Amino acid sequence: MATVTFDQATRIYPGGDRPAVDKLNIDIADGEFLVLVGPSGCGKSTSLRMLAGLEDVNDGAIRIGDRDVTHLPPKDRDIAMVFQNYALYPHMTVADNMGFALKIAGVNKAEIRQRVEEAAKILDLTEYLSRKPKALSGGQRQRVAMGRAIVREPQVFLMDEPLSNLDAKLRVQTRTQIASLQRRLGTTTVYVTHDQVEAMTMGDRVAVLKDGLLQQVDSPRNMYDRPANLFVAGFIGSPAMNLVEVPITDGGVTFGNSVVPVNREALKAASDSGDKTVTVGVRPEHFEIADGEAKSVSKDAPAGVAVTVNVVEELGADGYVYGSAEVAGSQVDIVVRVGGRSVPLKGDVLHVVPRGGETHVFSTSTGERLSD
Ligand code: ADP
Repeated sequence: MATVTFDQATRIYPGGDRPAVDKLNIDIADGEFLVLVGPSGCGKSTSLRMLAGLEDVNDGAIRIGDRDVTHLPPKDRDIAMVFQNYALYPHMTVADNMGFALKIAGVNKAEIRQRVEEAAKILDLTEYLSRKPKALSGGQRQRVAMGRAIVREPQVFLMDEPLSNLDAKLRVQTRTQIASLQRRLGTTTVYVTHDQVEAMTMGDRVAVLKDGLLQQVDSPRNMYDRPANLFVAGFIGSPAMNLVEVPITDGGVTFGNSVVPVNREALKAASDSGDKTVTVGVRPEHFEIADGEAKSVSKDAPAGVAVTVNVVEELGADGYVYGSAEVAGSQVDIVVRVGGRSVPLKGDVLHVVPRGGETHVFSTSTGERLSD
């Protein structure tokens, strides 16, 4: 086991107009499960491949423990990688697939067998050891790919979208298995996914990338509670946070007739730099429905923003209302979570108030967070 450090690590592909990964700084603790997440093309795989030694590092450094591995070949880094396509050898049995790297490394037969059997036990693959990959289900193949990494007992596991070939249900099961396996083995792990739910449920910490730039690295809880900028606010959470542009007034920032707390100094700095508006963020689950029963449409409804319901998505336990509202003189789309037993109808009007302490304010011009 070991720490992993990205120190200003930069990758510029030949002919690229900007770095694919730009001065990436992340300190990963010994035994930590770190997830790199972001939209396609943000630089996740490039970052992982730099750590693996499959991609040159043009500037900065990468360290595993106290070893500078920046220019070491992959085989000298003491890492094991699990790929998206598993890359199993079709003509070899499960046991031979799992033990192959050890065989190449010259480990003796008895030890290979012992390590393969141990890994198979952990992964529930014992009865499949003599099968070929084509005689396995997708989930079993995925576990063989994991097994191949585990038997090497590396300092670091690298995983690049290892669940993307599984169906939705199996993905959910397997992500729980991988997360608990990682905790049990305690091996430092760097995991790449484009799926923010996967990132949030698996990682000890999550690093969000956009256009090759690190946006925030934080625990899932902090990432959700206190996104550092507009991009992270919109990326983490599903359905996404409502983001509405409102004017900066003498009284500060309001959403409908609710005052939204903001860091005064940060707001003043934004205002001094010429900003006339800020962007207020409220997650769909952080609205109170002011008129109590969601179904009722009351003329003298209490305070709140009036949301006209366009579409209702019923999920059983709860539901999401997709509506439109007028906020600060503009028509905006608003998504509101409602209880499963009080789902309104299309055309109803809900009066919604952001719950105290659950609002976010961002600079509209720079995206930077302006609330505490
Ligand atoms: P992600 O894994 O987040 O989808 P990548 O790390 O694969 O993103 O790619 C980051 C950026 O680098 C993208 O703009 C992509 O087009 C570019 N890129 C990736 N691989 C290469 C390559 N071999 N040559 C040139 N550009 C590349």
